[in-house]
Amino acid sequence: MLSIIILFYSYYYNMASYFDEHDCEPLADGQQPDHLLHMARLLLDSGLAAEWELEYGRIFGGDSKVPPASKEAVKNLPTSIITPTEAALEKKCPVCIGLFDEEDEVKTLPCKHRFHTNCILPWLEKVNSCPLCRHELPTDDPDYENLKKHKARAKQREYELDTLHNSMFG
Ligand SMILES: [Zn+2]
Ligand SMILES: [Zn+2]
Repeated sequence: MLSIIILFYSYYYNMASYFDEHDCEPLADGQQPDHLLHMARLLLDSGLAAEWELEYGRIFGGDSKVPPASKEAVKNLPTSIITPTEAALEKKCPVCIGLFDEEDEVKTLPCKHRFHTNCILPWLEKVNSCPLCRHELPTDDPDYENLKKHKARAKQREYELDTLHNSMFG
């Protein structure tokens, strides 16, 4: 129970600043708040994630416009040369749809997907995610990195609120 109360108060503080910023009234005059119920409902309704979607659009002009992968992250991608054994598997590079031939140089992304070096490098200069599974690499863009952190936190809050809500009303 204690942890729920602590959890709740951290929400409360977040929401207090949310109300300040947005100049809206959480309660009518003289209304006695049932804090826990009230805040849980408000948080569930307030769409914090939606806020961040808007922010994302404002900064980047839509979902498709994302920063390139960080130069450091690209530099540190494991590089290897296709061995005869690997070539015999006749696997294809998802970017050029060409086979991985013996002696081809390939890079392996953190998601374990492999691409020809010459195919993936130009891609990562434009976009920070794997062409196949969209796993994200770090970027050199501090705004984007902050936004990513905020989105992760908002998601976590949403999940915790859902859990709280279900334990109270489920
Ligand atoms: Zn390729
Ligand atoms: Zn991938």
